[in-house]
Amino acid sequence: MGKVYGRVALIGLGLIASSIGHAIRKWGLAESIAGHAKSEGSRSAAIELGFCDEVFASAAEAVRGADLVVLAVPVGAMGAVAAEIGPCLKPGATVTDVGSVKQAVIAAVAPHIPPGVHFIPGHPLAGTEHSGPRSGFATLFENRWCLLIPGAADPEAVARLRAFWQGMKANVEEMEPEHHDLVLAVTSHTPHLIAYTMVGVADHLRRVTESEIIKYSAAGFRDFTRIAASDPTMWRDVFLTNKEATLDILGRFTEELLALQRAIRMGDGQHLFDYFTRTRAIRRGIIEAGQDTAAPDFGRGKPDGP
Ligand code: NAP
Repeated sequence: MGKVYGRVALIGLGLIASSIGHAIRKWGLAESIAGHAKSEGSRSAAIELGFCDEVFASAAEAVRGADLVVLAVPVGAMGAVAAEIGPCLKPGATVTDVGSVKQAVIAAVAPHIPPGVHFIPGHPLAGTEHSGPRSGFATLFENRWCLLIPGAADPEAVARLRAFWQGMKANVEEMEPEHHDLVLAVTSHTPHLIAYTMVGVADHLRRVTESEIIKYSAAGFRDFTRIAASDPTMWRDVFLTNKEATLDILGRFTEELLALQRAIRMGDGQHLFDYFTRTRAIRRGIIEAGQDTAAPDFGRGKPDGP
């Protein structure tokens, strides 16, 4: 494909940013990569691992001269970072983000983007439960979706960002921010909350039965513990910023759960059988759509992005 941008600045150097950096290198999508993270440890790891050419202790310094700026910090930190970099953005540059929530990020970031700079929010639906600069890998986005929220952004800038994600082998789709937040509340945010809850419940029980829960944990519970190991800062921010959609889906979830609870109490096997038959069909649909491909085995578990 060749280079899509001259200089790319990665703000935040965790799982997503490091995976972008590695993928840029792998596919030759940019001439140089600048980076910024809060801690010196993450910045030096980015140089050591080779996914940044230069790192900066200040986000404002990191974005100077960049053609593409990728905000890859927790959702709750996006606004402050945007305020810091706003005055230093190069005219004609594109600013995007990878945040798991879109309406709140747009509200926090857009006011700081100066005229003449294109702001095109995004969200790659790919990730693992691991975090930090050492957890990224170049193939994270392959055959995964990346959602762009272009709004009224310049079509040429949007086409370029689309080409960038496609260069990392992602499939790109455009979406409205409200719709994004509702879809993600169903497909990712609420399931994560349920996993956190289930692990919390088991932990209470474990105190009663010593180590039995962990010792005999079968695949189902192990999957929950893997999801529940996801980064606490990131997920705190997701729920605080996608509040309405998550509460809506949780309300629906609670209703369904109560119906199943009632079926169990009443011995209504037909209800349970019909319900599980429907959910099995949904699972088969996901597999047929190619959305359950395993990640390369780096001991990271399967891709499971928010
Ligand atoms: P991560 O691995 O925890 O990395 C976060 C990075 O942001 C770290 O490098 C951290 O710096 C930096 N950071 C945090 N606060 C900052 C601040 N105020 N100023 C500058 N840098 C700051 O997180 P991640 O998983 O890559 O997630 C990044 C974004 O991608 C989040 O918005 C998340 O919602 C989104 N996302 C995540 C996934 C996923 O599965 N993980 C999937 C799709 C989208 P230090 O290293 O110095 O602490």
